[in-house]
Amino acid sequence: MIAPILVDGVEVQAPLAPVLNPARTSEVVGEYAMGGTREADLAVEAARAAFPSWSALPATERASYLRKAADAIETEVDRLAVLITREVGKVLPESHGDVAGAPSLLRYFASLAERIDAETAVEVAYSGRAAIRHAPMGPVVVIAPWNTPVYLAFMALAPALMAGNTVVVKPPEEAPLALSEVLGLLARTLPRGVVGSVPGLGREAGAALTAHPAVRKVLFTGSIATGREVMRSAAATIKNVGMELGGNDAALVLRDAEIGDATVRELVAGVFGLSGQICYNVKRIYVHADRFTEFVDAFTALTARIVVGDGLDPRSTIGPVTTRAGYERVLGLRDEAAASGAKVAVVGTKLDPAGWDKGHFILPSIVTGLDPEAPLVADEQFGPVIPILPFSTEDEAVRLANDSEFGLAASVWSTDTERAWALARRLEAGSAFINVHRVGASPMSVPFGGFKQSGLGRNHGLESVFSCMEPQAVVQLD
Ligand code: NAD
Repeated sequence: MIAPILVDGVEVQAPLAPVLNPARTSEVVGEYAMGGTREADLAVEAARAAFPSWSALPATERASYLRKAADAIETEVDRLAVLITREVGKVLPESHGDVAGAPSLLRYFASLAERIDAETAVEVAYSGRAAIRHAPMGPVVVIAPWNTPVYLAFMALAPALMAGNTVVVKPPEEAPLALSEVLGLLARTLPRGVVGSVPGLGREAGAALTAHPAVRKVLFTGSIATGREVMRSAAATIKNVGMELGGNDAALVLRDAEIGDATVRELVAGVFGLSGQICYNVKRIYVHADRFTEFVDAFTALTARIVVGDGLDPRSTIGPVTTRAGYERVLGLRDEAAASGAKVAVVGTKLDPAGWDKGHFILPSIVTGLDPEAPLVADEQFGPVIPILPFSTEDEAVRLANDSEFGLAASVWSTDTERAWALARRLEAGSAFINVHRVGASPMSVPFGGFKQSGLGRNHGLESVFSCMEPQAVVQLD
C-alpha cells in the first residue's frame, strides 16, 4: 500500500519511505511517496489551473460534488478505519470516528451552500449602491497531523472547497495511508486538479507548499513549534494562515462536583482518549482540596479498568502511543515527575504482556504531589499520564487554568449550572466545556480553535468557509 503524490488526479513517482505500526514497530504497514519542491510545484500549479472553473461554479454545484464524494467515501469507512488503527495505533472505534468524519464534514459544509454566494446589500448615504460579497482566494494548502489525520484534514479542506478554493493536502508522514486513500476518492469525484496531495517530510514537502507564492492560504493543524515555522514561511508572500495548534487543557473539579461513576468516566475518557494524544484531551486536572482524595481515588479506580493493547483487538481500551519520540517524551516526563518526589500511580492492564515491548505501549499513570510549574503540568504531555493538583478557591482555580500560553479548551465540573457557566466564561480557552471534555461533544456549527498560542482563526461553522474567502466591497455611485 502506497500513499501517492496526487497531481491532477494522476500519481507522480518519488522515492518511498515506510509507515510503521506503533503496536508492532517491526511491521511495515505501507509506504508514502516523499514529495519535495518539484512535486509541491506541480500540485500547486494544477490547483492554480483548476481554480478559475471551480470557483466560478455556484456554491450549490460545488455542494453536489461534495455530497457525491461523501457517498463514495462512506462505503470505505470500515476498511479505512482498520488502516488508520494500523498507522496511528488508536482503537478501532476511534479510527472509525476519524474516517466517518470525512463524509459528515463534506455533507455539513455542503448544507451551507445557499449562504455562501449570498450578497449583502449595505445602506449608503449617497445616491448609489453598495454590497458585500465573498470571493474565493485561490489554491489553499492543508497540513494535517497524525493523531486524527482524516477528520482534521477534512475539517480544513471541506470549508476551503465549499468556498470555491482548490486544495493541496500535505498528509502526515506517520499516518499518510488512509488519508491518501480518502483524498484519492475525493479527487476522482471532483473535477481534475481541484484536490491534490503531496505526502513527504514536513521540512521538505510541507515547507515547499507553504513557501509557494501561488498559495493564498495555509490551514495548518499541528504543534505550536511547527505552526511558528509555517507562519514564518507564509509571511514571505503575506499568505493568510489558519492555525489549530497544541493544547494543555485544564479540567476544574469544583467542591460541588458530582464524583460519581458517570462523571468520572467522562473525565477518564477526556484524559485517556487516543492514549492522551488528542489536542483536546484533558492534560491537567485541578480539584478542590476538600474533595481531592475522594476524586483521586475514584479517578484511579476507573482508570485502572483501562486495557492497553493493539487497537485492532476489541478488548483494548486504548492503543499504543503513535511515535517513538512521543513514547520517549511521555516516559521521560513521568520519570522526571517521580524523581522530583511526586507520587506516580501506574495502573491498567497490559493486554499482551509478551508483545508489550514490541510496540509503543504505556500504561496510564496518575501523578499527584507536583508543583504547578512542573514540566508535566506546564507542557503538553501528549500521552497517557495525567497530573492532578489541588486548589482552594475558585479564583485560584481560574488563575491556574489560565496561567498558560495554551488556550485550546478547558472544562468545569460542577452540579451548580450557574456557577459553572460563570466560571466557564472566565476561562481563556476556545472551547469551555461543562461536565464534559470531548471534542465530539462540540457540534460542527460552533467555532473550534484556540486562544493565545493554541491557534489562530476558527474551524467548523459557516465562519470557517468565510475565513477561506476574501470579503469584497462592491460599490456603485449613480
Ligand atoms: P507537527 O507540528 O510535528 O506536524 C504537523 C504537520 O506539519 C505534519 O504533516 C508535518 O509533516 C508538517 N510539518 C512539519 N514541519 C513542517 C514545516 N517546516 N513546514 C510545513 N509543514 C511541516 O505536529 P504532530 O506531531 O503531527 O501533531 C501533534 C501536535 O498537533 C500536538 O501539539 C497537538 O496538540 C496538535 N494538534 C492540534 C489540533 C487542533 O485542532 N488544535 C489537532 C490535532 C493536533
